Amino acid sequence: MNERTFTGEWITVGKNLDLKVPDNPNIGFIEGDGIGPDIWAATRLVLDNAVAKAYLQRRKIHWFELLVGEKAARETGESLPARAVEMMRKAVVSIKGPLTTPVGAGMRSLNVALRQVLDLYACIRPVRYYAGLPSPVCHPEKVSITIFRENTEDVYAGIEWPAESEEAETLADYLRDHFHAHVPTGAGIGIKPISREGSRRLVRRAIAYTIARGLPSVTLVHKGNIMKYTEGAFRQWGYELAAEEFVSETVTEAQVQEKYAGKVPAGKIVIKDRIADSMFQQVLLRPEEYSVVATPNLNGDYLSDALAAQVGGLGMAPGANVGDSCAVFEATHGTAPKYAGLDKVNPGSLILSGAMMLDHLNWTEAADLVRTALEITLQDRIVTYDLARQMQDAREVKCSEFARAMVDRM
Ligand code: NAP
Repeated sequence: MNERTFTGEWITVGKNLDLKVPDNPNIGFIEGDGIGPDIWAATRLVLDNAVAKAYLQRRKIHWFELLVGEKAARETGESLPARAVEMMRKAVVSIKGPLTTPVGAGMRSLNVALRQVLDLYACIRPVRYYAGLPSPVCHPEKVSITIFRENTEDVYAGIEWPAESEEAETLADYLRDHFHAHVPTGAGIGIKPISREGSRRLVRRAIAYTIARGLPSVTLVHKGNIMKYTEGAFRQWGYELAAEEFVSETVTEAQVQEKYAGKVPAGKIVIKDRIADSMFQQVLLRPEEYSVVATPNLNGDYLSDALAAQVGGLGMAPGANVGDSCAVFEATHGTAPKYAGLDKVNPGSLILSGAMMLDHLNWTEAADLVRTALEITLQDRIVTYDLARQMQDAREVKCSEFARAMVDRM
């Protein structure tokens, strides 16, 4: 990457965190490992065509590559070179394919590292159904839920030590001596930090999103009945934030019962909370009662995959990692290494993440074009292998052919 690589202009962030987007923004892409190059090529084709069709010559994305992952390791000896991080900050908006994480030992997850180093504190995953997709539930069309998952804290903070390590033993001794805590001998130990500021900024973003889109409710999902000072505190800080900063726009579920005889006052957003295990039942049994969810990291991880399965699987679930100064849009599945280079997998997740990216730029006409083209392609029963094996009379196409079919339908 040298300055000649950047043929467009830079996006900037205003004082109120609003984006200033030129008509020719430089946007970074990480191709990703495994199936990454296949789904990225498909996504780029779709996004470029949508922008060209929506705005003719007036707008165009100027893509530049960010070297991260296996490709970066091969070329530079590092998986996450400092230059790539610097350019992601500079670009403000980037999009990425999946990156490999070795299990157990070795490098920590690159995805987690990126979220932490760029302070991308909100993982946003809108989950909705596209007609024609096979689903394991009877009424997948009732699901339209956006999850705001806290991205930087909780047991994902990376504060953990292996069983019998010096650090784990020292900490266990300290806990026994000072707090009479029962810690089994030789246990591995992980720490679960959840802070007031971290919880409040996530809930703030979730409520602002709900207001901006005219949605009916925000549900705080937690396991506060057991983990009172982390998950329970998340719930309490969420309600506190809503009361302090959004008092005229929100009402709690309890207030609806106590003050308004069970009827939500016009124009108000309901703030409610659910215990995480109960929420897994709720999204299966009564998904239509939920629109936006705000939740700590681990709950959000499980819940977003479970919800994605309800509407047709991870191949179609988009995601974004967003902070105050930059945002990275990404496929929610992994690198599926056995399919690498076969031009076979479903590019839907990255394509829809790209549509979220266009929304984020406020290029909503292009974003809508992408979603509508996807919907029509699915209704025409043109799908990749993962969906074809669950559908009768579908036409199975390659990853690149799926993208081409979408472009043909724009
Ligand atoms: P995975 O890569 O998501 O793949 C698991 C299975 O999901 C695949 O074998 C395939 O199922 C299906 N699948 C995934 N993506 C698909 C697509 N685009 N189209 C159709 N089917 C798709 O999960 P994994 O095997 O557990 O993880 C592999 C690597 O990816 C690991 O290194 C992991 O750490 C990494 N990972 C990265 C991210 C990220 O970058 N955000 C996220 C998750 C995992 P079938 O075999 O049944 O067809």
